[in-house]
Amino acid sequence: MAGDGRSPTTGRRVVMFPFPFASHTTPMLQLAGLLRARGLGVTMLHADFNAPDPARHPELAFVSIRESIPDEVATSADLVQQMIGLNDACEAPFHAALAAELARGGGGQSGQREVACVVVDGQWYKMPGAAGRVGVPALALRTDGAAAFLTLLSTPRLRADGYFPINGMCTRDRLDEVVLGLEPLRVRDLIRVDGSDDETMLHFIACVTDAMRASSSGVVLNTFDAIEAPELAKIRQELSRPAFAVGPLHLLAPAAQQEEQHAPDRGCLAWLDERSPRSVLYVSLGSVATIDLTAFEEMAWGLAGSGVPFLWVIRPGSVRGAGDDDAPPPFPEELIETVRRRGKIVAWSPQREVLAHPAVGGFWTHCGWNSTLEAVCEGVPMLVHPCFGDQTVSARYVTHRWGTGLDVGRVFERTAMARTIRRLMARELGPQAPRERARLLMRQARHCVEEGGPASSALDDLVEYMWGL
Ligand code: UDP
Repeated sequence: MAGDGRSPTTGRRVVMFPFPFASHTTPMLQLAGLLRARGLGVTMLHADFNAPDPARHPELAFVSIRESIPDEVATSADLVQQMIGLNDACEAPFHAALAAELARGGGGQSGQREVACVVVDGQWYKMPGAAGRVGVPALALRTDGAAAFLTLLSTPRLRADGYFPINGMCTRDRLDEVVLGLEPLRVRDLIRVDGSDDETMLHFIACVTDAMRASSSGVVLNTFDAIEAPELAKIRQELSRPAFAVGPLHLLAPAAQQEEQHAPDRGCLAWLDERSPRSVLYVSLGSVATIDLTAFEEMAWGLAGSGVPFLWVIRPGSVRGAGDDDAPPPFPEELIETVRRRGKIVAWSPQREVLAHPAVGGFWTHCGWNSTLEAVCEGVPMLVHPCFGDQTVSARYVTHRWGTGLDVGRVFERTAMARTIRRLMARELGPQAPRERARLLMRQARHCVEEGGPASSALDDLVEYMWGL
């Protein structure tokens, strides 16, 4: 497929390699579209595991690395082990595919390499080294926020200070301690993944940050100064290499660049059309997180008790212990009528359109970084319910740095939940109200992507940097 009309017009090309999950692939595709619009050719290498659909992105050249992933990696329930296994399985095929791309490209104008650089997802810690072995500089695209990435970079220090392993040494009373240098994060907000042990996770973090320091030429972040300026400054200082804040990518990029994991149920937009402005709470825990049946039922009771209309994404398989994936969501019998009257349940929504809909007044979110940014950009206040990984970091920023949301509470209890939902949805006014703060951030995000604004300037700088590599 490469080498056709989609190849570079300016004589230089960037090879990209997204991590094979939709919420990682989407920002990579968005960045690809933006680089192309600035005259660089793009070849998208990809794994066959969770492969993107080339037909949805006819403007890009896709090349499979033809890896072979062991079954135990493909189906692993341990996310950290899976990320390690994917790095192991994809390193050699990536190296070979990149070498083939170089051989295909030959020399560029004025003796420069035709392939200016590769951009790999930040979780691909083995790939910057592989790129180095064929003589190509590598940049990493972080698909989490700057605060989360800074937390990773700070891990050796945190470990030396006794913050890790969280599950081992930290006693309960230490979990609420604010982490020096990472305020407002507390110990309990540091990245961890249920079902993966701390040592494996720390090993993974060390691999990611070592690769950044040893073999990458820079980092690209899907964030912007107005929300994470101090964190970006600290990252630049820690890494002593360029860090380009080109976000929010989804606002800057051409609209089509989104990898759909499932077919969105667009019927929910018509349902929203019937609701009054800012009356609906949108509920979604993203594409990976799951909850157990007890938490699901408590959540359902909380929503019902709040009196607020809700649009709830319940992915098949996302309620643990609920039986067959194809079975309808397991609502308690007493709630079925309330759900029918006041709720709308879908398996997957067109989320960006939902958040932009005037009827949506709040977002119960797990605080995945894409969801967080999408809510920020639409000025929607959030009810945070982080599940794992960087979500705890983003959730804390929502509630304690940006003031654009409330915490749903660690202990799931229906009456407290209903109260918090009502508080979030109330037409509370004043500069400190989450809704007002959310609207302020929305204006800043929009300013950021204006012609000549900070995001487009950062992108221009990135392209210039790539040309010079
Ligand atoms: N998303 C969607 N419809 C849904 C749920 C999620 O389109 O019903 C999209 C959402 O807009 C976001 C992505 O899936 O772009 C989820 O990414 P995020 O980083 O928030 O969370 P993750 O899925 O990685 O946990």
